This record gives sequence, C-alpha cells and structure tokens, in this order.
Amino acid sequence: MKALALFSGGLDSMLAMKLITNQGIHVKAININIGFGGTKDMSAVFRERAHEAGADFEMIDAREEYLQKVLFSPKYGYGKRFNPCIDCHAFMMKKAKELLQKESADFIITGEVLGQRPMSQNSKALKNVLELGDDDSLVLRPMSAKLLAPTKPEINGWVDREKLLDIKGRDRKRQIALAHEFGFKEYASPSGGCLLTDINFSAKLRDFIKYQPLHVKDIALLKIGRHFRLEHGAKLVLGRNERENEILQKIDNSGFDDIFLGEELSAPFGKISKNASQNDKILASKIALSYTKIDKNKVHGVLISGETYEVCAENIKDISKQYAVGADC
Ligand code: SF4
Repeated sequence: MKALALFSGGLDSMLAMKLITNQGIHVKAININIGFGGTKDMSAVFRERAHEAGADFEMIDAREEYLQKVLFSPKYGYGKRFNPCIDCHAFMMKKAKELLQKESADFIITGEVLGQRPMSQNSKALKNVLELGDDDSLVLRPMSAKLLAPTKPEINGWVDREKLLDIKGRDRKRQIALAHEFGFKEYASPSGGCLLTDINFSAKLRDFIKYQPLHVKDIALLKIGRHFRLEHGAKLVLGRNERENEILQKIDNSGFDDIFLGEELSAPFGKISKNASQNDKILASKIALSYTKIDKNKVHGVLISGETYEVCAENIKDISKQYAVGADC
C-alpha cells in the first residue's frame, strides 16, 4: 500500500506519517505550497523531517491556483485574519486526491488532531472540509482516528486501526512523548507558520488588493520590509536591515521600481510602484532617507528608475506613520 500525506512540516504530521510507515506502508509526504509560508525556504527542513518519519517528500507549487480559487472567495469565510482555513484545508485535500492516481497511492493521511485549533479542526469544521471535498472515505487522520468514524483504509484492513491514536485537544504532551519515543531530532523549531494568520501581513494584503490585483510574483514583496501607501496611492516598501535589503534587491517584479540611496548611508533599499507620481516618488525618497543616520536637513540624491531626486528627510519620520501599512513599520 502507499499513502500520500498532507505534510505541513509540523510535528503532528510527522507523527501521523510515522504511525503509518511503522505499519509497513510506503508514505510520500506532500507539502502544498500556497505561497504564504515565511520568507525562509523550508523545503530542506521539511524533507529532513519527512525522512525522519520514514517518508519521501515533494513540495507542490499550488500558489497560482490558490489565488484564483481560494484566497479571495472562500465559501466558509475567514478566520481572525486573512486565513480561509476551512476552504484552504479542503483545497489541499482536493490537491492530494488529484495526486492519488498520478502517485499510484491508495489513500491520504493528515496530521489533523480533533479539537486542536478552534476554527479549522473542530469536528464541525472537519465536517465542512469533508463537504467541500466530495469523497472523504480515503482520508485517514491517524492522530485522532479512534475518535472518528472508520475510513476505508481501516475498514479494508490496509491499516490496523488499533495502532492509531485517540488524541484530541490542544495539549501537546502526548505528541512530545511520542516524538521522543520515535527518536525524532528535527521537529522542535516552528515549521514556518502561515502569514495569512498574521495581523500585519493581513493588513498589507488587504491594502494591496485595494489598489491592484494580487499575482503570485507580488507575494514575495508583501512578506518583507516596511510598507507604506503614499499620498497619491503608490506603494513603498523599505528593507529593515541588510538581510531584507538583499532579499528586496533580488525580487524581480516589473510592477515596481528600485529606490537606491547609495552604499555609504547604510540605508534601506526600497521598491515603489512603477506608476508612482512625482509627488509620491519625492515623498518615498524622504521617507527612505528618514531611516538613515544622515543629517535630516541635508539634501541628498535618491535614485529611482534612473532619475535622481534631490531631497532632505526633514522630520518626515513622524509624518510617515500616517502612510504606514501594518503596525510593524
Ligand atoms: S493557517 Fe494558513 S495554511 Fe493553514 S489552513 Fe489556515 S490558511 Fe491554510
């Protein structure tokens, strides 16, 4: 038998996979990349974790489809932020089902634990996920299986239900004990998290779509830096430190121009909407300068798409707060 595991990268899905590989079943972990994990590429860490659980690993790029079909039109709405968790789960389930045939796999497993998360994993939410994805008989949740109706893999004897678990709720003690029992080494650090549940990221996303449609290439820009919406509607993004400056410089997005203040200022690197007005470019230059240590009254040249703007930062830093998007400016 072969199972496909919906793998978030976290401990619960590692344990769910281990419970199944321990029964001699081949497991392939698939991580569905919807584009809203953190800025770090976690694929190597996820691969390592899947291997610890005895599974193969593949990351599936579903970003475009997620934007088209889920993020802006969730049937079951959003959680506290921009997180359409129920529809998102159903989407991932659907992707896994689509892969069953291609992978010659027999069933699907997930690391879901009953009652662990208020919105996405209580039994009503699980039921909604089931309703959104047509046939759930091939989806096994090893961590809570004994609390749920038997699925096809259990009924048909592909999997020994007795060796599955009855974990529910938010307490992590049993999971931690099992991780020790299984000898997992690489599981403690967070698995990247989902930015759609983050208050500041959600604010940036809401602001972005007020002005233009969101494409996959824009997501990288939303994940980084200080964000401002300027007087005439242009977006400004400034790196907070050297690492962010480097990432920003590498982002290739034809909808934005680079803002360059010069190496000697240890200044933020920036991006501004390509169609920004002269007024917004000057404002952006001033705001960018205000994050340097230069004399705020001294005129300085700021380069935006081949044109130099001679400005001084004055006391713009306080004023710039009114253009800030999110509370992490
Ligand atoms: S937290 Fe993010 S990735 Fe997880 S179900 Fe919700 S929207 Fe999807």
